[in-house]
Amino acid sequence: MEIIRNPQDMQDQALKWRAAGQRIVLVPTMGFFHQGHLSLMEYGRKVGDCLVVSLFVNPTQFGPQEDLAQYPRDFDRDCELAQQIGVDVLFVPEAESMYPPGYQTYVTVEEVTQGLCGACRPTHFRGVTTVVLKLFNLVQPQIAVFGEKDYQQLITIQRLVVDLNLPLAVVGRPIVREADGLAMSSRNLYLNPTERQTALCLYRAGQAAQKLVAGGEVARERIMAVVQQLLNHSPETIIDYMALVDPSTLAEIDTVRGAARLALAVRIGQTRLIDNFLLEESRS
Ligand code: AMP
Repeated sequence: MEIIRNPQDMQDQALKWRAAGQRIVLVPTMGFFHQGHLSLMEYGRKVGDCLVVSLFVNPTQFGPQEDLAQYPRDFDRDCELAQQIGVDVLFVPEAESMYPPGYQTYVTVEEVTQGLCGACRPTHFRGVTTVVLKLFNLVQPQIAVFGEKDYQQLITIQRLVVDLNLPLAVVGRPIVREADGLAMSSRNLYLNPTERQTALCLYRAGQAAQKLVAGGEVARERIMAVVQQLLNHSPETIIDYMALVDPSTLAEIDTVRGAARLALAVRIGQTRLIDNFLLEESRS
């Protein structure tokens, strides 16, 4: 596995691969790998000739009060895990080389970034779309792989690619969970043992909602009453949002018709956790 730090070197390598007719797959990450990240890489390894994983804790997607400085990092471990999967290039740019002095260009996807995490983190998606577009230009992938864990991010990137006619496919992959249902996340590390138990409320709420909808319940009010009760089960939980949305537009819905996404963000102590669940009416 090669480690590339310089953006120009990354693009030179990618253009060589392209000229040789290779299919490039990109998995963008912020590092501190867990099985969720590795599942995206394993998928990428299967579908592409050249697998690039970017590891970049992107400053422009963090708000001023957020955890940029404390974001967990373990470069040596990440290298080892990526190597085991057969990653060809780990692309690890410095912030100064991605945003050199004089940098002033940002790209914004408008509607789907307004609600959910966009409402609590107003500059977040502008940072995400900008860095992802830069990564696409540097890595030249035909396929880019993202996790459904960050569902609004996935929908936003899909919109970016369609709206700007980018010549690549965006693939969304399922959420990988711990044995007890907690969605894997680098930020789970921040949870103390009590908070770790409390964090299960997200999964419990999601499962309850899935069961209700599969059993024929379609009314938002009744579904969300149950979700709210489960999220509020413990006094140290603060709900940032709980939303029932159309799976492709992320618009809030009152009635489930076929399928919906339940999107959740809660704060437990100092840690903000997000999760989401596909709710499907049963066809019988
Ligand atoms: P991050 O390093 O948190 O920016 O995540 C990098 C990629 O991994 C994103 O596409 C995430 O959606 C994805 N990801 C993070 N956690 C999970 C998970 N538990 N299951 C599947 N994908 C995940």
